[in-house]
Amino acid sequence: MAKAEYRAPKGTSDLLPADARAWQHLLAVAQDLFARYGYEPVYTPIFEHTDVFVRGIGEATDIVGKEMYTFDDKGTPPTSLTLRPEGTAPIVRAALENGLTANGQSAKVYYSGPMFRYERPQAGRRRQFWQIGVESLGMGEPTADAEAIALLMEFFAAAGIPRSAMRLLINTMGDEVCRPAYRSEVAAFIRGNAAGLCDECARRADTNPLRAFDCKNLTCRETMKRAPVLRDRLCDDCAVHYAAVKSHLDALGIAYEEDTSLVRGLDYYTRTVFEVQAEGLGAQNAIGGGGRYDRLFEMYGGRPTPGLGFALGFERTMLALRSAGVDLPAPAIADVFVASAAPELASEVFAVTQRLRSAGVPAEMDHQGRSLKSQMKAADRLGSLLVVFVGPDELARGEVTVRDMTDKNEWRVSLHGIEDQVRTALFERYLARDVAVSGTPSEGRS
Ligand SMILES: [Zn+2]
Ligand SMILES: [Zn+2]
Repeated sequence: MAKAEYRAPKGTSDLLPADARAWQHLLAVAQDLFARYGYEPVYTPIFEHTDVFVRGIGEATDIVGKEMYTFDDKGTPPTSLTLRPEGTAPIVRAALENGLTANGQSAKVYYSGPMFRYERPQAGRRRQFWQIGVESLGMGEPTADAEAIALLMEFFAAAGIPRSAMRLLINTMGDEVCRPAYRSEVAAFIRGNAAGLCDECARRADTNPLRAFDCKNLTCRETMKRAPVLRDRLCDDCAVHYAAVKSHLDALGIAYEEDTSLVRGLDYYTRTVFEVQAEGLGAQNAIGGGGRYDRLFEMYGGRPTPGLGFALGFERTMLALRSAGVDLPAPAIADVFVASAAPELASEVFAVTQRLRSAGVPAEMDHQGRSLKSQMKAADRLGSLLVVFVGPDELARGEVTVRDMTDKNEWRVSLHGIEDQVRTALFERYLARDVAVSGTPSEGRS
């Protein structure tokens, strides 16, 4: 074991090949699906000016109050920078700066990559964690809300999480018309019921009263069940919007539960918020969620521009997939292994391997001069269907030997045209394997 200072920092994990493959797989599922819904990729810096997060997420939130990795750059005077704890604020900053929503245009974008929060590490909660998210900018209509929710549910289904293992929760946070009065009402409720609340929730009356709905403390949960409910106090516009979102979900046949305690912990949310929870993950059971943020552009000094989006977490999605018993993508294989018992033929072995790779064949070889027996073991481990033997006598005749790893048959192949010969032999074996698996041949490999 390496010395402590040479281990990954607390709360971080390496994505070793199995996890990295799973991440790329989920990313590929997302890219395919998001493109079908008209979203385009965007990459923003991993760090931003600290104010981007303080302004957008809100000073009274846990993220800004306790969890940000903030540092000074080397400028004079130094500028405060922060590793991004989430993806929405940077996207809105970028959209505003680059005029993506100027002149009433709309933009649909998605992002992916690591986020950073200084939190107590536990299952499904890391200090560097990986997220994929979409933002739909410039559209205030309730069909846009329903589209984002439908897309999130479709993503999890496409990733392999059974619908029966997921719960979709929705709520409305109101807007600047109806929320302030409601906020004061909740603050008054907290002051009147401080005995039934933890110290932190009692303090929230003055800072961020709605967050008391989010407290994991059971006594707080019980107490907050008696708190006033925003759904009964919505202004007309918010009520109409919320009803329309629900009716669009109903029309799509997407089942949801209304949860008045769902407040999502960021200040920028307005109107619709939603969260997807998965079974079997304990307290950290939210695998994705998001909402509408119609005031965020204005918070950065922009013109009023509606927006909404969601983010989903890689680590928790993986936990949900494991808990649902879903098989993750299998390791990469080398369909062909090029072997030789003669170390002096290394350059010929390498040349054959490269020719096969150039022809689109996944091929591997041994670089370390190991015995033929070790090379055959490697071929087995890599799932090779064919082994190409390069030997001095055959090579002198311009030939190599090909062995089928299943039935152990061998035959000679001319070195000239080896690409076509190997590809044809592989294709026959893919076909045979597909018939064996599904009963009907399909084109190539899946
Ligand atoms: Zn509490
Ligand atoms: Zn309202």
